[in-house]
Amino acid sequence: MPLIPVSHGRGAWLVDMEGKRYLDGISSWWVNLFGHANPRINTALKDQLDQLEHAMLAGFTHEPVIRLSEKLSALTGGVLGHSFYASDGASATEIALKMSFHFWRNQGQTEKQEFICLKGSYHGETIGALAVTDVPLFRDAYGPMIRNAHVVASPDARQAQDGESAIDVARRAAADMERCLQERAGKIAAVILEPLVQCATGFAMHDPEYLRLVRALCDQYQVHLIADEIAVGCGRTGTFFACENAHIWPDFVCLSKGISGGYLPLSLVMTREEIYQGFYDSDVRRGFLHSHSYTGNPLACRAALATLEIFESDDVLAQNRVKAQSITQALQPLAQHKQVKHFRQQGMMWAFDAVFDEVTVQAAKTFSRRFFTQALQEELLLRPIGNTVYLMPPYILNQEEVNLVGERILKVFDRVMGESV
Ligand SMILES: *Cc1c(COP(=O)(O)O)cnc(C)c1O
Repeated sequence: MPLIPVSHGRGAWLVDMEGKRYLDGISSWWVNLFGHANPRINTALKDQLDQLEHAMLAGFTHEPVIRLSEKLSALTGGVLGHSFYASDGASATEIALKMSFHFWRNQGQTEKQEFICLKGSYHGETIGALAVTDVPLFRDAYGPMIRNAHVVASPDARQAQDGESAIDVARRAAADMERCLQERAGKIAAVILEPLVQCATGFAMHDPEYLRLVRALCDQYQVHLIADEIAVGCGRTGTFFACENAHIWPDFVCLSKGISGGYLPLSLVMTREEIYQGFYDSDVRRGFLHSHSYTGNPLACRAALATLEIFESDDVLAQNRVKAQSITQALQPLAQHKQVKHFRQQGMMWAFDAVFDEVTVQAAKTFSRRFFTQALQEELLLRPIGNTVYLMPPYILNQEEVNLVGERILKVFDRVMGESV
């Protein structure tokens, strides 16, 4: 398929060089929150450009990074009061893993060197992040370079057997985690997981009970809990941090993607005072080492501040609750469709799985690509993962756009399922 050269973006829409428009139903790989060329973020960035584009953060600091750190800390009620900055999600994962390992080492617990991740987990694609990523497509080619983590059961609610609830599945998965901890806790530094929705593996959703159980296990077995909220943070699940749905705080939160509104590469790892203090020492070898040229880039931090200001001034979380209802409403024909199973929603994310049988098994293999192509014909940018169609739009869709999305996804789905291949 030929590439689509994008000329510009406005709100939820991307426009190509021929003037054809596409509604960005996946927020340009889950990063955009308030639309393309957002006037408020643009204004903030233009102002920041004339103040300071970048300055090193070693021995120096600046207003955008201080204000952002304070705002983020306040969003956790001060529990995760310290932020460490980088530019991409995979680096945030690596920073959290390194920090956990190094914290234990500073405590004299040098044997805590291993990590636990979930089946189907995705935490980025650098060598270190692939160690805790369980998506074969991204891993297999690089297998020999990767240091393996322990992979335990996913709480994916789709695994519910007859009569089981999502909470039952969560308990079963937590029991599997406990088996691993019973055996190896002395060697485990941290558990890393994507709270509530494992996005990259196909929007596997789980009950918040799982997070409460894992939090309790991590406390019991003295292991850190790392919440990778790179995709699910920033209001995506209905609360600002996904962990808030379960009323727990992890020991580390990784943020990236939406935090800069989808404008600039920015990632960060938030952690607790106790962990920060574990590094605070005049001996540099006890300090946390992860030098990064663009750490705390002022432009990216300013974009993040403008993004957080929109959350505040527009009461975005409350607005999204209303908007989510109308989107779920617009997707009802798909939720009830005969060829759809596991229609699911969490906050501003929707997903469903296309049903294939022995006769149509061949069609399943090309479903994702055919859906993407047909969606473009209907002015929609949507990229299913395998047989899972998902919608993860910017938070700014108006009712007209919501209706359009509902009608067109149904049309595209029917057309693709009806294609003879
Ligand atoms: C996208 C993503 C990452 C990696 O972020 P990059 O910026 O692409 O490196 C890590 N974890 C999760 C859950 C993600 O969705």
